[in-house]
Amino acid sequence: MKKTHTRDYIQWSDEGFMEKVLCKGCGTVLSSMVEGDAIRSTKKGNTIVKHVPLTLQQTAAYDVVTLEMEDGSAHETPICKSCKVEIEAGLFDEDDLFATDVRSWKYTAKRTKTSFQRNQTERKVKKRVN
Ligand SMILES: [Zn+2]
Repeated sequence: MKKTHTRDYIQWSDEGFMEKVLCKGCGTVLSSMVEGDAIRSTKKGNTIVKHVPLTLQQTAAYDVVTLEMEDGSAHETPICKSCKVEIEAGLFDEDDLFATDVRSWKYTAKRTKTSFQRNQTERKVKKRVN
């Protein structure tokens, strides 16, 4: 069974926004921050301040896989196209992938001072029947 490649699949900038999202399965970049065109300039005294819009843009590798949970719910998570094929073939430890997401939610909640539902950690992924 393949395990998660990277637990820190969301990379944060020093300013506190998501800079990159990596594939949990292999580390391929799924989305990254890119500069938009709508650059705006304002003047502050003798200084010209350029405002560059940033957006999180998905790469060609980006895909989403649905993990079916034992409680009947479903969990969608970003993954690269080739890891998705391996997950659907039952080659990945899906509980490990889900645990990686839970860890990331906890971390994001801490960073953004939002709440995190404790019962998430008890959820289990339903085993695939192929
Ligand atoms: Zn991957």
